[in-house]
Amino acid sequence: MRDNKGWFYDSRRTLMIIALVIIIGVISISYVGYSSYGSIIRDDIRNITKLTSTNIYSEIDNELTKPIFVSLTMANDQFVKHWIYNESDATEPEITNYLEGIREKYNYHSVFLVSSQTKRYYHYNGLFKTILPEDDHDQWYYNFLAQSESYILDVDQDEADNHLLTIFINCKILDDYDNVIGVTGVGVEMDYVQDMLETFEDTYKLEAFLVDENGLVQAHTNGAMIETRNIGNEALYRDLGNTFYRRDQDLNIFHLDKDGQEQYVISHYIDELDWYLVVRKDTAQLGNSFNRQIKLDVGITLLILIIVIGAVYKIIVAHQREIHKLAMTDTLTALANRRYFDERLARDLTRTESQWCLFVIDIDGFKRVNDVYGHLQGDKVLVHTAELCQSCMPDVSLARWGGDEFSGIARGSCDDIYKLLESYRKAVEDDAALQSFGVTVSIGVTAAVATDTADSIVKRADQALYRSKSTGRNRITIG
Ligand code: GH3
Ligand code: MG
Repeated sequence: MRDNKGWFYDSRRTLMIIALVIIIGVISISYVGYSSYGSIIRDDIRNITKLTSTNIYSEIDNELTKPIFVSLTMANDQFVKHWIYNESDATEPEITNYLEGIREKYNYHSVFLVSSQTKRYYHYNGLFKTILPEDDHDQWYYNFLAQSESYILDVDQDEADNHLLTIFINCKILDDYDNVIGVTGVGVEMDYVQDMLETFEDTYKLEAFLVDENGLVQAHTNGAMIETRNIGNEALYRDLGNTFYRRDQDLNIFHLDKDGQEQYVISHYIDELDWYLVVRKDTAQLGNSFNRQIKLDVGITLLILIIVIGAVYKIIVAHQREIHKLAMTDTLTALANRRYFDERLARDLTRTESQWCLFVIDIDGFKRVNDVYGHLQGDKVLVHTAELCQSCMPDVSLARWGGDEFSGIARGSCDDIYKLLESYRKAVEDDAALQSFGVTVSIGVTAAVATDTADSIVKRADQALYRSKSTGRNRITIG
């Protein structure tokens, strides 16, 4: 049989093992969840970035296709060509009416025409200026003529309208011999591109902007960056090298994980604009909130686990105490039983520094009680004799040795204990109830010596008891 502490340590170890297994399980599940959700989230972010860039691309495409088409139509309009051939002050209202008509119909920010011969710049509300090669603002015209393209898109401040940032679609007007006789086109306000970028940025929490082939920002929700910020000067984009400006595939997707900062960057060449759409999505924000969630989950699980394990541990300990108490108690007399007494004796035998004695008590003539009054009555006599014993010796450790025998271990010399035993023997002798059954007690007591074993000390006490019996009973013998 294991001792009390053994039980505690066993249950504690078992609980610790269970707790450890659960904790390892929780952490493993969280880790597996983290890994798989992590890759799902990464895929999501990648898809969101891709989708955003595709959406922005098609919106820009949609928005610009119409003004390009309108500009090309104007450039090929026979009326426009005819008017240029016959340009004069008198015919000015004809062309301004024409330009105003286009502006009204399509609601463009600007509609213009430049005559190559006179270098006059006509606006939808009249002659605006004459183009000069030395005017910085007019360089677009000379640059465009130097290029082979029949139309280009150009971001510029609209001189004719409060210098608002405008995407101009410039188209060459050619005569029958492909000579340039003028340039016409429309201007679309940049605001709409910025509004669109802003909507995407707000919805998907990312950065979206347009750059030219040199990395110079052409459209951004932050107006101050337009034509001033060059992403070629930024390490992030510089590191991506020339692949960033590839035009041979729809999208160039880059996954960057540098210094713990994870992000997706997409570059998307827009043919009509000859610009690149750049979409950059930081995964850190999502990743961080995911990390926080995982930590919270594990924390709450561990907290619940600690509370549950604590409660289970308390219940088990209380149950074990109860079981142990029952295992060490004699059910009839409620005294400690022989098992407890043996453990106690083994412990006391290791203590040699103080004096102590062992005694054995046997009821005299008990068999007759059973025989004459029956076993139930015999039980009552046993219980009563035990209670009397405990009340006479409240500080002594008593046990039912077996049958009608009790044993005890008491501190002090045999003489000290003798007095206690004598008071008990006398109490039994004088007890009216026990007298009626003709019951007394015989006692053998012996002092522990350093060389004692359990057998030797019990044997001496037994021999002393035997002497009490053999010399007339109802007496105490020191052995
Ligand atoms: P002695 O004076 O020599 O001790 O004689 P005695 O009659 O007391 O005989 P002994 O001590 O040898 O017998 C003890 C008896 O106690 C024998 C057994 O039947 C009885 N007994 C043992 N356990 C119980 C019990 O739990 N209840 C009852 N009622 N009797 C028991
Ligand atoms: Mg007896």
